[in-house]
Amino acid sequence: MFRERRCIRCGTCQTVCAQGAISVVGDVVSTDREKCTLCGTCVEACYAEAREIVGREVTVAEVMAEIEQDIAFYDQSGGGVTLSGGEPLVQRDFLLALLRACQEKEIHTAVDTCGFATWETLDRLREHVDLFLYDLKLMDDARHPKFTGVSNETILRNLQRLSTLGHDIILRVPIIPGINDDEENIRRTGAFAAALPRLNQLNVLPYHHAGADKCSRLNRIYGLPETRPPSDERMFEIVQILQGFGLPIKIGG
Ligand code: SF4
Ligand code: SF4
Repeated sequence: MFRERRCIRCGTCQTVCAQGAISVVGDVVSTDREKCTLCGTCVEACYAEAREIVGREVTVAEVMAEIEQDIAFYDQSGGGVTLSGGEPLVQRDFLLALLRACQEKEIHTAVDTCGFATWETLDRLREHVDLFLYDLKLMDDARHPKFTGVSNETILRNLQRLSTLGHDIILRVPIIPGINDDEENIRRTGAFAAALPRLNQLNVLPYHHAGADKCSRLNRIYGLPETRPPSDERMFEIVQILQGFGLPIKIGG
C-alpha cells in the first residue's frame, strides 16, 4: 500500500526494486502490481514510511485461534463471525474450511458477498453459512457492467436460488446518487426483493467516500470523485418506496 501524503519523492524505492515495478516520474509514484513480487524491499527502504505491505498469509487454525478467544462474547451477545472482503468467495477453499471449523464450534457465521460466483461455489458453502449479507447494486443489466465490470445475471440468479432454498439473507443496497438512486432502479429492486421466497431484511446503505483514501493507497484511480452522499431526504424517500413493497427496511448495517 502507498501513502501518497507521506511520500517525499526521493526515488529510493525505484532504485531498490529488483523487479522494476516502481516508477517515480516527477510527482507521480506508481507501482506495477503485475511485476511486484511482494518482496518488501521497497517498504524497508522507504525512510518516509510511505510504503506498506498489507495483509498476511494465515492458516485456518490461526484464524480459529483468534476467533475462539471471543466465543464467550458471542455466547452472551448472540453474535458470531462475519467473513467479508474484498470478496470472500474468491478464496473458496479457505472459506469453506473456515466455515466448517466455525460450525464445529457452533459459532454463527455470516458471509458478506457480491454474489458473483458459480453456483457450484455457493452450493458447496451454503450449508455452513447461517446468514448471507448479499450486495445488490443495480437492476438494469445493460448498465451493470459499466459500473461493476460484469453482468448481474449470475448475481440475481444465485440470490434467487439461495432464497428459494430457504437461506437467511440480508440484502444490502448501496445508494449511490446518479448511479442507482433513480426511481426506476429503486422500484425494480423493491419488486425483485419482494418476490424472493425468503428475505430477512433489506438494508439501504448511503454512499460514502471511505473508499477514496483506500484507492489512493492502492495506487488506483477512485472512480466516483464527484459523487456526494445522498441527502437524508432522498434516503427517506427511497425507504418509503421500498416499504411500499412490504419489505423490512433498515438504513445502514
Ligand atoms: S522511497 Fe518512499 S518516500 Fe521515497 S519515493 Fe519511494 S515511496 Fe516515496
Ligand atoms: S515489494 Fe514489489 S514493488 Fe516493492 S521492491 Fe519488492 S517487488 Fe518491488
